Amino acid sequence: MLAYTPMILPFLASLTLTSGLGAVAAGRPSAAARTFAWLMAGLSVWTLCYVMELSSATLAGKHAWLVAKYLGAAPTPLLWLVFCLHATGREGWLTRPVRAALVGWAALVFAVVCTDSLHHLMWTDLRVVPGEPELQAGHGPFFWAYAAVVYGSIVSSVVLFTRFYHAAQPMFRRQGLLLALGGFVPLAGRMSEDLLGLDLLPHVDEVIFFFLFSAVLFALALFRYGALRLVPIAHHLVIHNIRAGIVVLDLSGWVVDLNPFARELFGLRPGEGVGASSQDVLPSLAAPDAPQTPEEEITLLRGHEPSYFTVQRSPIRGASGQVSGQAVVLFDITARREAEQQLQHLAQTDALTGVPNRRHFTAQAEQLLAQAARDGQPFAVLMLDIDRFKSINDTYGHPAGDEVLRAVARTCQGRLRRSDLFARCGGEEFAALLPATSAAEAEQVAEALREAVEALSVQDAGRPIPVTLSVGLAPGDPALGLGLDAWLAQADDALYAAKVGGRNRVTLAPPALVPAAG
Ligand code: GH3
Ligand code: MG
Ligand code: MG
Repeated sequence: MLAYTPMILPFLASLTLTSGLGAVAAGRPSAAARTFAWLMAGLSVWTLCYVMELSSATLAGKHAWLVAKYLGAAPTPLLWLVFCLHATGREGWLTRPVRAALVGWAALVFAVVCTDSLHHLMWTDLRVVPGEPELQAGHGPFFWAYAAVVYGSIVSSVVLFTRFYHAAQPMFRRQGLLLALGGFVPLAGRMSEDLLGLDLLPHVDEVIFFFLFSAVLFALALFRYGALRLVPIAHHLVIHNIRAGIVVLDLSGWVVDLNPFARELFGLRPGEGVGASSQDVLPSLAAPDAPQTPEEEITLLRGHEPSYFTVQRSPIRGASGQVSGQAVVLFDITARREAEQQLQHLAQTDALTGVPNRRHFTAQAEQLLAQAARDGQPFAVLMLDIDRFKSINDTYGHPAGDEVLRAVARTCQGRLRRSDLFARCGGEEFAALLPATSAAEAEQVAEALREAVEALSVQDAGRPIPVTLSVGLAPGDPALGLGLDAWLAQADDALYAAKVGGRNRVTLAPPALVPAAG
């Protein structure tokens, strides 16, 4: 049996607002928004059941709605706390045991309420008083435990928001202020009665009445200051999750903090590293007082693979501006470095044979000549050309010609020293520069290469392809001060002589007689 009382009107207004806000929040993707949606659902159930309690005419009816009201009243204060943790970037506190405790408490409250007629731990002496739309009751011991948890949740949320307030951006400060006020207003209503003995609203529950104001403040936070759309992410989470190593050193170079990524880089376990000297955790890092280079780079071994990092150092200043330490940030540039190395390799390598190309030969040969000039060591320049290669292509086909090129390149490079420079200069022509090599030694090497190519057995469909090589050799004397082009021209002339002389031979250039100018 229901009886209408105009007292339900403000509660209906608040019910409309909380359910509307819940629907808006449910459409937002963040965990904070989901919690807020549940919170609004809790407030709505709480308010709706209270409206029904007020409107019921019988003790049994009022009692049933009083119990149902705790479907909202049991979880809502805890949902509020959970929401505040999300809204202030402290969701890390919501560990599995904490969640279990919160759910357990809400379930216990509801269980006690449902079975209250058996033990009266929540209420004593439930009765209807004429002229009072609410059920009247005395409070059992469990009621005070429940009230303590509600107070605790709200006070904790105010503390959370106050601490959050100092570190937050202005936008989040306004959100935080409105949300904290929204959470506190219903409790303030309750406190005015419990602590000051003020009955602001006779006949009805102040807490539920003030949900109306909470809802208005929440709506402001949501629609004016982007709460739930913009949920702050705590600074410590950024540092915890960022894929860069961050090490904080004090003025003497001791590690005072480091993030998980830095620990992973240095092979430290969680909790290790703080209190160590920077040289212990990272010997390759320059000393803290070393002069700063704009682009400090270090290489760390992870397993057997090198990883490359750029190092940035920033002084950390206290409130009064004095330097109290420094933050060292390591950025992983391994992928970039590897891509650069790969590009460099590609740019220096002949695609068909895999040996260095002409560009690489020229650059390296200039350096080797300069080195030979410094050391006063003789050297040799070789030009090598496959004989009658055109007819190999014509007889066996272009792919077989390619195979011959690869075989010749492999054979020559395999027979030279690591310190020798060998390259494909184009077509079927190769060049070599042998540092610290006399004319006689170079002639032996050239002859060995020629013999090795002649002995090659490149097959085309079972048929052996005969391959021979002509070599022009220019023995180099650094005292003459000639440039690379001059030595290459001499070797080329000798190669031409080898071709004219019948091919498959090594020909020496006549000794160069031009002395160095000056
Ligand atoms: P010589 O003994 O006088 O050096 O005669 P040759 O036929 O070797 O010299 P020539 O310069 O007349 O011919 C070189 C041939 O090499 C012509 C060209 O088609 C071929 N060639 C150049 N680059 C490649 C290549 O990458 N693959 C193949 N299969 N052939 C190539
Ligand atoms: Mg040729
Ligand atoms: Mg040629």
